[in-house]
Amino acid sequence: MTQTLKLLSELIALPSVNPAFLPANDPHAGEQRVADCLAATAARAGLKVEFQKVLPGRSNLLVRLSPTGKVKQRILLSPHLDTVDAVSENQFSPRLKNGRLYGRGASDTKGSVAAMLTALCEIAKSKRRPAETEIVFAGLVDEENAQRGSFALVAGGFKADLAIVGEPTRLQVVTAHKGDVWLRLETRGKAAHGARPDLGRNAVLQMARIVGLLETTYAAQLRKRRHPLLGHPTISVGSIAGGTQPNIVPAQCVMSADRRTIPGETEATVRREVKTLLRRNKLSATMASVKHAACLPLETNPRLLLVRQFLRCAGQKKPAGVDFFCDASVLSHGGIPSVVFGPGDIAQAHTADEWISLPSLERGKDLIVRFLKSLP
Ligand SMILES: [Zn+2]
Repeated sequence: MTQTLKLLSELIALPSVNPAFLPANDPHAGEQRVADCLAATAARAGLKVEFQKVLPGRSNLLVRLSPTGKVKQRILLSPHLDTVDAVSENQFSPRLKNGRLYGRGASDTKGSVAAMLTALCEIAKSKRRPAETEIVFAGLVDEENAQRGSFALVAGGFKADLAIVGEPTRLQVVTAHKGDVWLRLETRGKAAHGARPDLGRNAVLQMARIVGLLETTYAAQLRKRRHPLLGHPTISVGSIAGGTQPNIVPAQCVMSADRRTIPGETEATVRREVKTLLRRNKLSATMASVKHAACLPLETNPRLLLVRQFLRCAGQKKPAGVDFFCDASVLSHGGIPSVVFGPGDIAQAHTADEWISLPSLERGKDLIVRFLKSLP
């Protein structure tokens, strides 16, 4: 069994479900068990370990490998430590089958955690330690909910010349991802007896027209925008609720939608264009704020020296783009040029039978080692 596989198996057996998805005091909640296991592994390899407190009982783990000489640049390896909840207790028992390792977090993103920390330990033990590049592994908390780990790292003034954010990209170096804005619209009508609909104003009907407009006209408008790596932005209506019972004309209806953005679009521009669209179609709704921090799109310049070097090491001519968002956005908008990279496939993330292929896991570790060894 390789070091990477051994570490990944240990990590899967240590639940680190984001507490936001669990009842209070659930034994599976929190990243600390995983952080402690990684800290012990790093310390055994002679690496410096520290914690950055983010929330009660939840800390980012920072592991540093100093260069042999003076620090001239810094590389950050930053996967997240939390996962979504498991479908059954079974998912916390790693299982090997047909060249795959099954378990919660195998792809998202304990596979990247294991590959990145093992790579760092390997460099630490080898004789080819960089002369002027400091390498920092940061295991971040809370990516799956509010990304408070990456926000805390940036707010603490952490700087690096390149961050490689661990997520399952099938070992593709990703320089762009979409952003996300949640919209919440509310229509108001006038209640009346169901036998006299002419005396009321139906809020559900009003909302049905808005849903139709967003899913047809607006969606078509979005398909005309194109980003070379990300394609077009999208809108998807995710929930609707209105009225109380059949014999009352509904006076209120609420709808929520998920709007995936491309570089250049912000929450403000999205809200503005939806408002304009409604006005033009003589539909009215109020737009409420949503308890969900919008995530900005990621767009890192692929011509940056370190990005080009990483692409070369990964044997990739052009960078890739992905639909899902992650901590790379937070780090990048916090001033750290960021790419996304890791073994496993996002198609397996959050599924009931999440797995990672062993060749992908090992190759991921090897590519990171190759890149780290190529640094001065
Ligand atoms: Zn993830």
